[in-house]
Amino acid sequence: FHRSEVKMSGQKEVTFIMVKPDGVQRGLVGEIIKRFESRGFQLVGCKMMSPSKEHLEKHYADLKSKSFFPGLIKYMSSGPVVAMAWQGKSVVKTGRAMLGATNPLESNPGTIRGDFCIDIGRNICHGSDSVESGKHEVELWFGEKTEDYSLCTESMIYE
Ligand code: UDP
Ligand code: MG
Repeated sequence: FHRSEVKMSGQKEVTFIMVKPDGVQRGLVGEIIKRFESRGFQLVGCKMMSPSKEHLEKHYADLKSKSFFPGLIKYMSSGPVVAMAWQGKSVVKTGRAMLGATNPLESNPGTIRGDFCIDIGRNICHGSDSVESGKHEVELWFGEKTEDYSLCTESMIYE
Protein backbone atom coordinates (compact mmCIF):
# COMPACT_ATOMS: atom_id res chain seq x y z
CA PHE A 1 0.00 0.00 0.00
CA HIS A 2 1.08 3.51 -0.82
CA ARG A 3 0.12 6.00 1.83
CA SER A 4 -2.31 7.67 -0.60
CA GLU A 5 -4.11 4.35 -1.22
CA VAL A 6 -4.55 3.80 2.52
CA LYS A 7 -6.10 7.26 2.83
CA MET A 8 -8.30 6.65 -0.23
CA SER A 9 -9.76 3.42 1.16
CA GLY A 10 -11.32 5.33 4.10
CA GLN A 11 -12.92 7.71 1.65
CA LYS A 12 -14.71 4.84 -0.11
CA GLU A 13 -17.16 4.31 2.77
CA VAL A 14 -20.77 4.42 1.54
CA THR A 15 -24.12 5.13 3.16
CA PHE A 16 -27.67 4.80 1.95
CA ILE A 17 -29.64 8.03 2.31
CA MET A 18 -33.28 8.18 1.29
CA VAL A 19 -35.73 11.06 1.07
CA LYS A 20 -38.95 9.46 2.30
CA PRO A 21 -42.38 10.14 0.67
CA ASP A 22 -43.12 13.05 3.05
CA GLY A 23 -39.73 14.63 2.26
CA VAL A 24 -40.49 14.39 -1.48
CA GLN A 25 -44.00 15.85 -1.05
CA ARG A 26 -42.69 18.69 1.08
CA GLY A 27 -40.12 19.73 -1.52
CA LEU A 28 -37.06 18.84 0.54
CA VAL A 29 -35.18 16.68 -1.98
CA GLY A 30 -32.89 19.53 -3.05
CA GLU A 31 -32.31 20.70 0.52
CA ILE A 32 -31.23 17.22 1.65
CA ILE A 33 -28.98 16.67 -1.37
CA LYS A 34 -27.51 20.15 -0.91
CA ARG A 35 -26.41 19.44 2.66
CA PHE A 36 -24.52 16.28 1.70
CA GLU A 37 -23.02 17.92 -1.40
CA SER A 38 -21.94 21.05 0.45
CA ARG A 39 -20.34 19.00 3.20
CA GLY A 40 -18.03 17.47 0.59
CA PHE A 41 -19.56 14.01 0.26
CA GLN A 42 -19.76 12.38 -3.13
CA LEU A 43 -23.02 11.28 -4.76
CA VAL A 44 -22.47 7.85 -6.34
CA GLY A 45 -26.10 6.80 -6.86
CA CYS A 46 -29.46 8.58 -7.08
CA LYS A 47 -32.91 7.54 -8.30
CA MET A 48 -36.55 8.34 -7.71
CA MET A 49 -38.65 5.22 -7.34
CA SER A 50 -41.75 3.68 -5.79
CA PRO A 51 -40.41 0.67 -3.90
CA SER A 52 -42.68 -2.37 -3.50
CA LYS A 53 -43.94 -3.39 -0.05
CA GLU A 54 -41.74 -6.49 -0.32
CA HIS A 55 -38.67 -4.33 -0.95
CA LEU A 56 -39.49 -2.05 1.99
CA GLU A 57 -40.05 -5.08 4.23
CA LYS A 58 -36.55 -6.28 3.29
CA HIS A 59 -35.08 -2.83 3.94
CA TYR A 60 -36.72 -2.66 7.37
CA ALA A 61 -36.43 -6.41 8.14
CA ASP A 62 -34.89 -5.79 11.58
CA LEU A 63 -38.04 -3.89 12.66
CA LYS A 64 -40.54 -6.55 11.58
CA SER A 65 -41.64 -7.37 15.16
CA LYS A 66 -42.27 -3.73 16.14
CA SER A 67 -45.83 -2.48 16.64
CA PHE A 68 -45.20 0.48 14.30
CA PHE A 69 -44.01 -1.79 11.45
CA PRO A 70 -47.31 -1.95 9.46
CA GLY A 71 -47.72 1.84 9.76
CA LEU A 72 -44.09 2.34 8.71
CA ILE A 73 -44.56 0.23 5.56
CA LYS A 74 -47.80 2.07 4.72
CA TYR A 75 -46.09 5.47 5.20
CA MET A 76 -43.08 4.44 3.12
CA SER A 77 -45.40 3.18 0.34
CA SER A 78 -47.46 6.37 0.23
CA GLY A 79 -45.49 7.92 -2.65
CA PRO A 80 -42.16 7.94 -4.45
CA VAL A 81 -38.88 8.19 -2.56
CA VAL A 82 -35.44 9.40 -3.65
CA ALA A 83 -32.82 6.73 -2.99
CA MET A 84 -29.19 7.83 -2.82
CA ALA A 85 -25.75 6.39 -2.22
CA TRP A 86 -23.23 8.83 -0.74
CA GLN A 87 -19.51 8.19 -0.38
CA GLY A 88 -16.76 9.69 1.74
CA LYS A 89 -14.70 9.52 4.89
CA SER A 90 -16.89 8.56 7.87
CA VAL A 91 -20.03 9.22 5.78
CA VAL A 92 -22.17 6.76 7.76
CA LYS A 93 -21.66 8.30 11.20
CA THR A 94 -21.54 11.85 9.87
CA GLY A 95 -24.65 11.22 7.75
CA ARG A 96 -26.56 10.07 10.85
CA ALA A 97 -25.42 13.19 12.70
CA MET A 98 -26.61 15.35 9.79
CA LEU A 99 -30.02 13.62 9.82
CA GLY A 100 -30.53 14.01 13.58
CA ALA A 101 -32.31 11.72 16.05
CA THR A 102 -34.99 9.24 14.93
CA ASN A 103 -37.55 11.28 16.87
CA PRO A 104 -37.40 14.77 15.31
CA LEU A 105 -38.44 16.43 18.57
CA GLU A 106 -35.17 15.12 20.01
CA SER A 107 -33.12 16.28 17.00
CA ASN A 108 -30.98 19.37 17.43
CA PRO A 109 -31.77 22.41 15.31
CA GLY A 110 -29.26 22.39 12.47
CA THR A 111 -29.93 18.73 11.69
CA ILE A 112 -32.24 17.81 8.81
CA ARG A 113 -34.93 16.31 11.06
CA GLY A 114 -34.39 19.03 13.67
CA ASP A 115 -35.00 21.71 11.05
CA PHE A 116 -37.82 20.25 8.97
CA CYS A 117 -40.10 17.83 10.83
CA ILE A 118 -41.91 16.98 14.06
CA ASP A 119 -43.32 13.41 14.26
CA ILE A 120 -41.27 10.19 14.38
CA GLY A 121 -43.54 8.58 11.79
CA ARG A 122 -43.00 11.50 9.38
CA ASN A 123 -39.28 12.07 9.77
CA ILE A 124 -38.58 12.74 6.05
CA CYS A 125 -35.29 10.88 5.61
CA HIS A 126 -33.41 7.64 6.18
CA GLY A 127 -29.71 7.03 6.77
CA SER A 128 -27.78 3.79 7.34
CA ASP A 129 -26.82 3.20 10.98
CA SER A 130 -23.47 1.35 10.56
CA VAL A 131 -20.75 0.83 7.97
CA GLU A 132 -22.04 -2.74 7.48
CA SER A 133 -25.67 -1.68 6.96
CA GLY A 134 -24.45 1.10 4.64
CA LYS A 135 -22.87 -1.51 2.35
CA HIS A 136 -25.86 -3.81 2.70
CA GLU A 137 -28.49 -1.12 2.00
CA VAL A 138 -26.59 0.36 -0.99
CA GLU A 139 -26.41 -3.18 -2.39
CA LEU A 140 -30.14 -3.75 -1.68
CA TRP A 141 -31.25 -0.53 -3.41
CA PHE A 142 -28.64 -0.17 -6.17
CA GLY A 143 -27.06 -3.59 -6.72
CA GLU A 144 -23.80 -3.03 -8.58
CA LYS A 145 -25.13 0.12 -10.20
CA THR A 146 -23.35 2.85 -8.27
CA GLU A 147 -20.84 5.12 -10.00
CA ASP A 148 -17.10 4.86 -9.51
CA TYR A 149 -15.48 8.22 -10.31
CA SER A 150 -13.15 10.67 -8.66
CA LEU A 151 -14.10 14.19 -7.70
CA CYS A 152 -11.79 16.86 -9.11
CA THR A 153 -12.20 18.74 -5.81
CA GLU A 154 -10.87 15.81 -3.77
CA SER A 155 -7.59 17.48 -2.79
CA MET A 156 -9.58 20.50 -1.60
CA ILE A 157 -11.73 18.31 0.69
CA TYR A 158 -9.18 15.78 1.99
CA GLU A 159 -5.68 16.63 3.26
N1 UDP B 1 -40.40 4.66 13.50
C1 UDP B 1 -41.67 4.92 13.94
N2 UDP B 1 -41.97 4.79 15.28
C2 UDP B 1 -41.02 4.42 16.19
C3 UDP B 1 -39.71 4.15 15.73
C4 UDP B 1 -39.44 4.29 14.38
O1 UDP B 1 -42.56 5.26 13.16
O2 UDP B 1 -41.32 4.32 17.39
C5 UDP B 1 -40.10 4.80 12.07
C6 UDP B 1 -39.33 6.09 11.77
O3 UDP B 1 -39.81 6.60 10.53
C7 UDP B 1 -37.90 5.61 11.67
C8 UDP B 1 -38.09 4.23 11.04
O4 UDP B 1 -39.26 3.72 11.65
O5 UDP B 1 -37.11 6.49 10.88
C9 UDP B 1 -36.95 3.28 11.25
O6 UDP B 1 -36.66 3.17 12.63
P1 UDP B 1 -35.17 3.18 13.16
O7 UDP B 1 -35.20 2.84 14.61
O8 UDP B 1 -34.31 2.36 12.27
O9 UDP B 1 -34.78 4.75 13.05
P2 UDP B 1 -33.79 5.50 12.03
O10 UDP B 1 -32.64 4.58 11.75
O11 UDP B 1 -34.58 5.84 10.80
O12 UDP B 1 -33.37 6.75 12.76
MG1 MG C 1 -32.61 2.58 11.16
